[in-house]
Amino acid sequence: MRWVLIFSLWACSGSSGKNDSAETNAEADTDADTDADADADADTDTDTDADADTDTEPSRVYATLVSHNEQDNNPGCAPVLADRIEFLKNRRSTLDFAEMVVRTGAAWDLQTDFRYLEQLAEWEDAAELAETDGKTLFKYLTDTYPDQIVVDPHNHDTPGINYADVAAMLEAIGVPDTGVVGGFLYYPAEDADWQRFEQPLDALSHPGFSWQGQILWGPATSGHSGPDSEASGLWRPTSAEDFHTDDPTQSLVAIGMYKEAKFEEGDGAGLVELLDDLEAGAFEPGAVITASLFYDQCGFDDAGISDTETFIDSLSDHVDAGRLVWATVPDVVETWRTTYESNPWVHNAP
Ligand SMILES: [Zn+2]
Repeated sequence: MRWVLIFSLWACSGSSGKNDSAETNAEADTDADTDADADADADTDTDTDADADTDTEPSRVYATLVSHNEQDNNPGCAPVLADRIEFLKNRRSTLDFAEMVVRTGAAWDLQTDFRYLEQLAEWEDAAELAETDGKTLFKYLTDTYPDQIVVDPHNHDTPGINYADVAAMLEAIGVPDTGVVGGFLYYPAEDADWQRFEQPLDALSHPGFSWQGQILWGPATSGHSGPDSEASGLWRPTSAEDFHTDDPTQSLVAIGMYKEAKFEEGDGAGLVELLDDLEAGAFEPGAVITASLFYDQCGFDDAGISDTETFIDSLSDHVDAGRLVWATVPDVVETWRTTYESNPWVHNAP
């Protein structure tokens, strides 16, 4: 038994601002989240030769675990956000997931909306904090495992709260800013909402605070109208109309999650496909191949964590051979900039 299948789709659907009615319908609830992508441990593959021609840099798959928590209108998170006992069980499962990530040598972008942060502030007490060095959960995770766990903002616009407000809440508890936008709309073009990150975004409820997004993770479609982006790679989107084409004059970097990113549905098949293709010689050297495994944080349970651990362990030969690097999203982008000289690579664009 894996995590409760609450959402048939992993992509945040567009109507971030509208919400409740759509979300009570499991079919309509595509807006549960956006997702995923991959990252790798930049430290393990730093190019030792600064003058090396990037054309000769071996292609590798950079993979990342990515999770979302949501707002009260999300059927998976509603019971977790409404009841302290349920919330603290999920906090425990989140710690268990973190320990699995550390144990397996994987990497995780935990992407959070504002409601989970509010309930941490309200419901963590001395007993919980004693388990996490006296620190609130996300501060503990990023302080303790900075090479393997980062926390990024995720948000569905709601009155008074946008991405910059979530970033302000993370800053207030001492979580490092990653610059990662944890989910956005890219299609249809008239609904695309990522261009607002081309300049600092002003918070709505934190006067004087603004946030500069730098990395776009989780391209989703409005109302799940498709086509979903199942691209892999790193590039700088040209425009809303031409999202998957690189324009080196643009500053925002998009990272692809590839196919079947939602782990409870795809069992990691997209990542395995990329690794098999790489091993078979399908890609020219110099490719930063990316994939994500996506999770609903509110659905974390022992069985799902165990399944993920088994899957990650099954890929150890690829890690040992240098084909697979686990890394957080910001670390993948850093490796792309330093080792691959920001050479764009886009595979399987819709
Ligand atoms: Zn979401």
